[in-house]
Amino acid sequence: MGREGGALLDSRLIDDLRRVVGDRWVVCERDSVVDYLLDETPDVVRPQPSSDIVVVKPHSAEEVSEILKVANERRVPVYPVGGRTGLVGGSIPTEPGIIVSMERFKRIEIDEENLMATVGAGVTLGELIEAAERAGLFFPLHPGDEGAFVGGLVATNAGGARAVKYGVMRNYVKGVEVVVPTGEILRLGGRLLKNNTGYNLMHLIIGSEGTLGIITEVTLKLYPRMKHSVTLIAPFSSRRDAIRAVPKILRSGANPLAIEYVELEEILKSAEHLNERWPVEEGFSQLIIILTEVSEDSLYAQAEEIEHLCKESGSGDLVVAEAREEQDRVLRIRSNLYTTLKPDVCDILDIVVPPSMLAELIDIIEELGAEYGAKLPVYGHAGDGNLHAHIMKVNGHAPEYFEELKRKIYEATVKLGGAISGEHGIGETRIKDLKLALSSKEIELMREIKRAFDPNNILNPGKVVGRA
Ligand SMILES: Cc1cc2nc3c(=O)[nH]c(=O)nc-3n(C[C@H](O)[C@H](O)[C@H](O)COP(=O)(O)OP(=O)(O)OC[C@H]3O[C@@H](n4cnc5c(N)ncnc54)[C@H](O)[C@@H]3O)c2cc1C
Repeated sequence: MGREGGALLDSRLIDDLRRVVGDRWVVCERDSVVDYLLDETPDVVRPQPSSDIVVVKPHSAEEVSEILKVANERRVPVYPVGGRTGLVGGSIPTEPGIIVSMERFKRIEIDEENLMATVGAGVTLGELIEAAERAGLFFPLHPGDEGAFVGGLVATNAGGARAVKYGVMRNYVKGVEVVVPTGEILRLGGRLLKNNTGYNLMHLIIGSEGTLGIITEVTLKLYPRMKHSVTLIAPFSSRRDAIRAVPKILRSGANPLAIEYVELEEILKSAEHLNERWPVEEGFSQLIIILTEVSEDSLYAQAEEIEHLCKESGSGDLVVAEAREEQDRVLRIRSNLYTTLKPDVCDILDIVVPPSMLAELIDIIEELGAEYGAKLPVYGHAGDGNLHAHIMKVNGHAPEYFEELKRKIYEATVKLGGAISGEHGIGETRIKDLKLALSSKEIELMREIKRAFDPNNILNPGKVVGRA
């Protein structure tokens, strides 16, 4: 039943959609639609998708505009979908409606003079990284799944392993073409390095998780390719020793591209899962530090400084990966951690604190784990203060203490001056925890902004800010 009582996805609506994009790009067959209904959220917390869904595949902002006008007029929910690698149920259609898949937005234009790339929302992270390299440039950001789409990366303001030096997705975005729920096409920002013209709507769209508009094209900042890079792996006998080294490295003046925290048991499993070998088999915890520099001298001077700081903090001998393939292999195994753990995970928490608070946070996680008798594998972007603690299934199911333990970890994080999401977003699965981290006034203002962009609440309804 539709919001007005009639069949929501009736033949008239399907005909309208076919008129906009052509028959071939409207998918109603159940077997084809199911591929679009899920993302990578752990099954225990993943929302149930509606089965009453039509998938539409536009290839221009104008077509997206027409689709939204039809949907808005008929109050039909619309769900923007990218690579479906999300971890908070953001793209999952929780009500009958229209999935708009961005897979045909594949344009890539590299502007070498301005060090910018203008890309369609359907370009994958892997394709963007390759295109930048072909032009002798560099797109540093590396969230773990290269199948993510650029539109999705912007909609979630993704982070990832290599965010320490240049920041998260928001720091790269210089322009966005977006279609708002009432059908208008906005072109925000551009090939500009600074822009202070009124409220910055572009930065509202970044991280809005498909609730304020559908992103069709993005202009991103690129960097000159770094001539020299090296990856260091430092083993530590305890979580605390490893984590306490991080603020020291950040204060040292070395400017790492990444400081990743991993644990031996899980990283060995990830290597095995990829049929690869992990180069360091000692210590309980390890730091992976990636350095890039224009000169070899400054690169190795930084590496020596970091080795000294790690040793001073209790690490064993560091392993240095210099060859490009070796460094790529280390990043590949690191990025595969979630995929390896996923079948046994209830939820992957995405908590973030000021880097100086990481040691306290890790102690609290240890204490809570002991209190509940729960194994809580942790890894993450320590250089940003962002850790992923995993609450695991017990005998294949969510343990009784699951929600209580999660709430306690969130409360401790917020008490340390942190937030409940550093990079994955709120989506559907974190809405109920929003009030632990935000004041009622903040939530109210966010809902007002949602209403301003989407007066009929058709776009990804109920996600991020929930329902008023
Ligand atoms: C193995 C693995 C590792 C990961 N590592 C990281 C990591 O290190 N850092 C990190 O931040 N994330 C990570 N993620 C999560 C995920 O990759 C990111 O959230 C990514 O940004 C999602 O992009 P997507 O294209 O897959 O989006 P989807 O999952 O398709 O959608 C995500 C959200 O964005 C919205 N959306 C998608 N496209 C558009 C568009 N064009 N316009 C408007 N809204 C849109 C959707 O409605 C949804 O709310 C990882 C995921 C996996 C599976």
